[in-house]
Amino acid sequence: MARYDVVIVGAGLGGLTAGAILARAGRKVLVVERSNSVGGAASSYKSGELFVEGSLHETSDPHDPRDPKHDVLTRAGVIDAVKWIPSGAFYQARGGPLDQPFLMPDDFDAARRALTERFPEARRGIEQLLGEMARIASAMATISQGREALKNPRQALRALSGLIPIVRDWPLSLSKKLDRVFGDNEAVKCALAANLSYFHDDPATLWWIYFAMAQGSYLQSGGRYVQGGSQRLSSALARAIKVAGGEVLVRRVVSSIALGDGAKSITHTAKDGSDPRTVQCAQIIGNAAPAALEPLMQADAAEQLNQSYARQAPSTSLFALTLGLKRPPREFGIAAYSTQLLPPWMKRLTDYAQGAALMAEEPGERMPPMSVVDYAAIDSGVPAPPYVLSILGPDLLSNWDASDMDAYREKRGRWQEAIVRYLASIYPGLSEAVVASSFNSALSVRQYLNAPDGAVYGFAPTPPPTIWSNPFRSPRTAISGLYLASAYAGFGGYTGVVQSAGVCADMILRET
Ligand SMILES: Cc1cc2nc3c(=O)[nH]c(=O)nc-3n(C[C@H](O)[C@H](O)[C@H](O)COP(=O)(O)OP(=O)(O)OC[C@H]3O[C@@H](n4cnc5c(N)ncnc54)[C@H](O)[C@@H]3O)c2cc1C
Repeated sequence: MARYDVVIVGAGLGGLTAGAILARAGRKVLVVERSNSVGGAASSYKSGELFVEGSLHETSDPHDPRDPKHDVLTRAGVIDAVKWIPSGAFYQARGGPLDQPFLMPDDFDAARRALTERFPEARRGIEQLLGEMARIASAMATISQGREALKNPRQALRALSGLIPIVRDWPLSLSKKLDRVFGDNEAVKCALAANLSYFHDDPATLWWIYFAMAQGSYLQSGGRYVQGGSQRLSSALARAIKVAGGEVLVRRVVSSIALGDGAKSITHTAKDGSDPRTVQCAQIIGNAAPAALEPLMQADAAEQLNQSYARQAPSTSLFALTLGLKRPPREFGIAAYSTQLLPPWMKRLTDYAQGAALMAEEPGERMPPMSVVDYAAIDSGVPAPPYVLSILGPDLLSNWDASDMDAYREKRGRWQEAIVRYLASIYPGLSEAVVASSFNSALSVRQYLNAPDGAVYGFAPTPPPTIWSNPFRSPRTAISGLYLASAYAGFGGYTGVVQSAGVCADMILRET
């Protein structure tokens, strides 16, 4: 039986990043992925003539040493293996309570200037909020690296002192925090948090500190896209594993995990369940969601894992419509790389929460909030024509009924038509230019990524119940020898996943 130091279940961004660091540190690593290629959500592919980016709109710049990805991707050996292309501005916000579009720069100073120029009545609040976000973004990058980071007393003190002024607001949700700072000025709130779908679907249950950290990392380092598509990053990570002597298997499904006190083993099969192969290892890393690992384990271990996450709710899902246009999107008035379209029915930021459940019904008057990315607006390396426009917004698995796939596809088709009509009402002429399309829903996320609930950001980033609760998740699980390297081990999104994969690899290197 083949033996490895570490076997990783899943070749998403988290599994690949942890695998690359461990393999480069001399560990014998095997990564097993059920799909045809590596990357999980961090994949891009062709559907006919259409280039489809599976996930990435923007991430913060990993070349900035303050960015939580910097150190991890450097150690994984891929920071310079791809080009990180600036997104120009953070986003243009339009609609909802905003009477005119607002362009949010991806830089704290420029954002402060743009916001105070546009909302002079809220100057004090803007300065206070952005000041707090800047302190939190830099302090939390240190703290959320886990206990190890805090062993360096000087680093720990610097990080913690940055947080002292905001301790009072620690357990607040985003909407409570913004109410406290801006009262009923809904336009400024919406300008500041128009891209909410990058993190969650409801400002009333989004932890303000997480928002400050994640939104703050874009404003600290700037937005970036991986030139040529996120697949290039995932493939570079897989290459780094192989160059260091590790193995990456695709089209192989992990079908069981045996967790004894000593050596552990996993069995993987072909997609149809044939050709089972069992390998031994000292540690197992789950890149797949904990709820996807449980059915692979013995009943007592599965129950233990299940209980340890019983209080964690899954994050939101996303729908992602990719349109191929015969002419560049800017010709229809799309003015930025990333546009956050707030629907006309949204009068308050808290109304955002109503968006996620809309696709449960047939399309009607109300459209969900949407994030629209024009890959032709920057040097994205995305092939064109057709010019790729990616439209995503909050979605829920419960919106879609998988029992009748024909009915599902028809309803999804009607939503696609309604979204294109809605976009054309804002950007005249756009619908006639559509020559190709691809629509992924929360159900597609569940099917393609084996993500229970279609969750795209791991567990929901909700506020801690009290100021004393530990808000940070860990790659360590309740089961000895089983770790997580994924959105479920920290926070979701590229930054959260890469960061927690780095913490996971360090834990294993330290402990073995
Ligand atoms: C439409 C969309 C847009 C997004 N936009 C952004 C963005 O602009 N910026 C940003 O920062 N983040 C974005 N995200 C979020 C980000 O992509 C994810 O949080 C992140 O990629 C998750 O990585 P992961 O490694 O945790 O999990 P995943 O990517 O889900 O990887 C898990 C892997 O495990 C595999 N697997 C599961 N079960 C098994 C098994 N039994 N055997 C073998 N393999 C298995 C799956 O096939 C999958 O490849 C977006 C996500 C989506 C869906």
